[in-house]
Amino acid sequence: MAEDKKKASVFDGAVMTADGLSFKGVIMTPVVENCTGCERITQFEEVSYCPTYARPATKWTRGICNFATHIKATVDKEGKIKVNPLKASKRAARGR
Ligand code: SF4
Repeated sequence: MAEDKKKASVFDGAVMTADGLSFKGVIMTPVVENCTGCERITQFEEVSYCPTYARPATKWTRGICNFATHIKATVDKEGKIKVNPLKASKRAARGR
């Protein structure tokens, strides 16, 4: 009876292959250091994977992952806070 109430895993149906974790026909790679702290990280056989992106390392090559839960998307690679483009144009119009 307790097994009936067992929570379904995000990676139900995933299979570990020689190439890596195969889930719905896609090979998943483990999360990278930048992902540390993200709430989307899910364990499968004691390895951390991202159910949102199959290859987290690729996601971080162009800047901050837009689905990251631990970092604000408004902060750029250098750590500077991005200004909303609309606000920037209003500031320019006011001469600031
Ligand atoms: S959502 Fe982005 S930051 Fe979070 S685990 Fe996936 S790739 Fe990493």
